[in-house]
Parts: sequence; structure tokens; C-alpha cells
Amino acid sequence: MNLDPDQFESEARQRLETVQSRIARACEQAGRNPADITLLAVSKTKPIEMVNAYAKLGLKHFGENYVQEGVDKQMQRPDLCWHMIGPIQSNKTKLIAQHFDWVHSIDRLKIARRLNEQRPPEKGPLPVLIEVNTSGEASKAGVPPEQVEELAQAIAKMDSLQLRGLMTIPARSTTLEEQRSPFRMLRELLEQLNQRGLQLDTLSMGMSADLEAAILEGATIVRIGTDLFGPRDYGAQKQETPHKAG
Ligand SMILES: *Cc1c(COP(=O)(O)O)cnc(C)c1O
Repeated sequence: MNLDPDQFESEARQRLETVQSRIARACEQAGRNPADITLLAVSKTKPIEMVNAYAKLGLKHFGENYVQEGVDKQMQRPDLCWHMIGPIQSNKTKLIAQHFDWVHSIDRLKIARRLNEQRPPEKGPLPVLIEVNTSGEASKAGVPPEQVEELAQAIAKMDSLQLRGLMTIPARSTTLEEQRSPFRMLRELLEQLNQRGLQLDTLSMGMSADLEAAILEGATIVRIGTDLFGPRDYGAQKQETPHKAG
């Protein structure tokens, strides 16, 4: 990839300003403090130079979907906070437990168990989120809402994991009202779990196209790829579920 670091730096500054002002406006509308929202820069498929540019502009949290790519970047920038947000295969849990600082995409007990066993003790408990299927489509990743509590209670007992909350990737929709509905479902689910004795404080929801709707419904982490890094090139890239391509 031909990347002129100076040119990208000024582009990055503008893109970041645009995203931050969208966050600020949504917060104003929601009566929330922008300081309570973490901007997670989704750097999957993008080169480390772009990560470096955003790190220089003050971002600390970066999201990756593919384990090996994320590990490579983490080793180059161990000072940053790396979030695993993609589908997890059980043969990759060891690398994830060793190299990532957060995991958003836990969708079954087996994955949680393995991460719990494989987390190096010196790194401290790994903060994790359960990915919830809020759209009801069988093709979508995540745990059906009615099965979340059982998984949450099991993870809450694991010493090397720290269950922090829930994540979702809803089906695409265009109106603000439609966009808000799965995010509202996720927030209500988190509130229910807290009433059942869990202590969860994190809602990872909202991407480039729907961050406003997510903030209005209580997002604490928004995951932004395209609007910071530009469109992803899928020519020779690894698989991604079709609804997220573009
Ligand atoms: C790629 C991806 C994002 C970023 O999506 P954009 O629409 O490019 O902002 C967020 N979350 C997950 C889980 C992703 O895979």
C-alpha cells in the first residue's frame, strides 16, 4: 500500500474531527458526557502507519477482526489498547488471551473457558463482552438474547475474565428509529442482567453508519472503521460477513 504518512496525517486529523463532532452532537442530544464514550478505531485490514497516525492524534483504543493481523500490530504498538472484535475460532484463543486487552465477540461458553484458561496471570483478568444477536437472523453472529444470562452468569465466575457488558452488530437499517431499536434491546438486556446481580458497565454498539443511534441508546464504546480509515479493500482480503462489507 502506498501511504504518504504526512498526507494521511492531515486526512486523519480531519476525519477524526468529523467523527468526534458527530459523537459530541449525539451526546448533546442524549444529555450525555462525551468523556463517557470510548472511540474504538477499527483498524482491520489497514496498515500500522495509519494506526500510528491516530495514536499520534491521541487515540488509544484499536479494534481488529483477524487474530494474526491484530497480534502483529499489537507487537509493534504494545503501548496501545487492542480490542478483538471479530469472530473467534477456538484454535485462536491462546493468541487472543496473550495479546489482546479486550474481547468483544464472545459467543459461546467454550471460547470463554479457553480464554479464561489461557490468559497469562501476569496480564490480569481480560475484560470481555458477550456478542448478542439482536436481529433474530440465524445468519448473524452472537448469542440469542434469551441465552445471554446463562452465559453471562458462567463467565462472571471465571477468575481470569472480567465480564464488562454486551456487544452487538445489528442488521443494517436506514432510519434513526429503526437503528435505535436493536441498541435499545441491548441496553435493556444489560439493565436486566444488572438487576440479576451482575455488574456490567459496557455497551459496545454503533459503527460508522449508526453511531448517533447507539449513543442515544447508551453506547459506551463506538467502533468506527470506515469513517476513520476509509473504505476497506476486499480484493484479496480475508472473509468478512457480507452485511459489514462496504
Ligand atoms: C468492521 C467492523 C466495525 C467497523 O465498521 P465501519 O462500518 O467500517 O465503521 C465495527 N465493528 C465490527 C465488529 C466490525 O467488524
